[in-house]
Amino acid sequence: MMAEFRVSTRARIALIDITGEVNAAVAHAGIRAGLCNVFVPHTTAAVIVSENADPDVGSDLLAHLERLVPRDGGFRHAEGNAQAHILSVMLGVSLNLPVSGGRLRLGRWQGVMLAEFDGPRERSVIVSVAPE
Ligand code: ZN
Repeated sequence: MMAEFRVSTRARIALIDITGEVNAAVAHAGIRAGLCNVFVPHTTAAVIVSENADPDVGSDLLAHLERLVPRDGGFRHAEGNAQAHILSVMLGVSLNLPVSGGRLRLGRWQGVMLAEFDGPRERSVIVSVAPE
């Protein structure tokens, strides 16, 4: 079972909590227990699991990633968004998450986030759910 939804990002770099949308896709799939794959078909974005309670965690994460991979790092890529390509590869474009009771079996403080590194733009998120 596969579903797709879109997310409009509003900044060059941002984290957008998509836990609700992914859980809605899992519920729509009607699978009580199994595995959920979340995938973004993009080369300048990523999907991650991170803390969703304190927004400072996300701010710290993005600030630290920008220090690790500076935007003007002397890259050759003429489009000017090499930083975004590198961060997409570092964080990854898909996640496998357990499904239990018809929803994601996340930890208390975990949320699924779309990481935008070259926004603002519209992103697609593809959710595939397989029964156990
Ligand atoms: Zn590029």
